[in-house]
Amino acid sequence: MTATPDSASTGDDRPVVVIGAGPVGLAAAAHLAARGLEPLVLEAGPAAGSAVREWSHVRLFSTWGEVVDPAAEKLLAPTGWVRPDAAAYPTGGDWAERYLQPLADVLGDRVRYGATVTGVARAGRDRLVDLGRDEQPFTVHVRFADGHEERITARAVVDASGTWSAPAPLGADGLPALGERAAAGRLAYRVPDLGDPAVRARHAGRRTAVVGSGASAFTALALLADLAKEEARTHAVWVLRRGIGAHTYGGGDADRLPSRGALGLRAEAAVAAGHASAVTGFRTQAVEREGDRLVLVAQDGRRLDPWTRSSSSPGSGPTSPSSPSSGSASTSACRPRPPWPRSSTPTCTPAAPSARTAPPRSPTPSRASTWSA
Ligand SMILES: Cc1cc2nc3c(=O)[nH]c(=O)nc-3n(C[C@H](O)[C@H](O)[C@H](O)COP(=O)(O)OP(=O)(O)OC[C@H]3O[C@@H](n4cnc5c(N)ncnc54)[C@H](O)[C@@H]3O)c2cc1C
Repeated sequence: MTATPDSASTGDDRPVVVIGAGPVGLAAAAHLAARGLEPLVLEAGPAAGSAVREWSHVRLFSTWGEVVDPAAEKLLAPTGWVRPDAAAYPTGGDWAERYLQPLADVLGDRVRYGATVTGVARAGRDRLVDLGRDEQPFTVHVRFADGHEERITARAVVDASGTWSAPAPLGADGLPALGERAAAGRLAYRVPDLGDPAVRARHAGRRTAVVGSGASAFTALALLADLAKEEARTHAVWVLRRGIGAHTYGGGDADRLPSRGALGLRAEAAVAAGHASAVTGFRTQAVEREGDRLVLVAQDGRRLDPWTRSSSSPGSGPTSPSSPSSGSASTSACRPRPPWPRSSTPTCTPAAPSARTAPPRSPTPSRASTWSA
């Protein structure tokens, strides 16, 4: 960013459009403003950190000191904002309320809510015209919550739309498994909020499959293990595409982020205590319905049936307890395990990314999901 001329020196007063008012988009806007560039943040949701608010019940494994951007802190300082204790761990809700929203408020009308970016292209250049493409500004197509649409001309575009809205599917080849879309209403792609009575009831005394080996999968395993101590017959079936090796549980005590390491250790303890049983080498090919139940089917033909004990390949953990007599299904998507960003410091640059006409998509899909039955 340091090589980027500011608006005054170029006479170009078109904004740099930032897609998304999450931690990265807002930090990008703070950096742009610090360099005399005019950011315009377009956020699909109704508030700053709309994606982060979706998992407000989850505590970060990063400290406040790691998730507050220095340029953002400078922008906030004149308002009297004081960073919370650098060594403390915020929840997603804390992060959004105590940092992201105040930051967006300082940016004022440079943040627009209910503004979904539906496409980005070079102005006046259709898909077939290459000539002069690089000299054209960007045109950003936006649809607002009230239904009206706008076209915004931008000198550059920073895509900070995140990955939350495009979780990785269950399918082993990175695309939805057969039947996964049809079962969507019974799958959830997030860490369950067991503080919510309805969500708790969905998992209490039932078997939940947790698919994936990222930090969110570990969080789900740890939460379900805690629930199992209170609610008999609660059990997690942990579905892994690979086997269990030295690095499966992350860095443990040696992790650069101690709280992240602790999550892996809690997941390991859940398996050791028998609250979760691992099913390894399970590459999901299909999600089938059996009555009102869902069954995961692997490419090798194994069936993860909630009513019978799942067959386990070598390396599996302890066996699961008997199955419950009733249940419903849900799946949750979780974030990939390392590498996590050290902080929310953006890697954005006003140098324009390649133009595209499709809606922004997540470059790094999530990897884990939970399923209960
Ligand atoms: C449960 C969980 C725990 C985590 N814990 C940690 C942690 O401890 N430490 C850590 O460093 N990271 C953690 N992360 C990851 C961290 O949340 C992400 O790295 C971070 O949120 C990425 O920020 P972002 O701004 O790129 O994307 P997001 O936070 O996803 O924000 C993207 C924003 O863009 C908006 N948007 C999307 N599409 C459009 C569109 N077309 N038009 C307009 N707006 C759009 C969304 O509404 C959203 O507000 C965790 C993630 C999860 C899910």
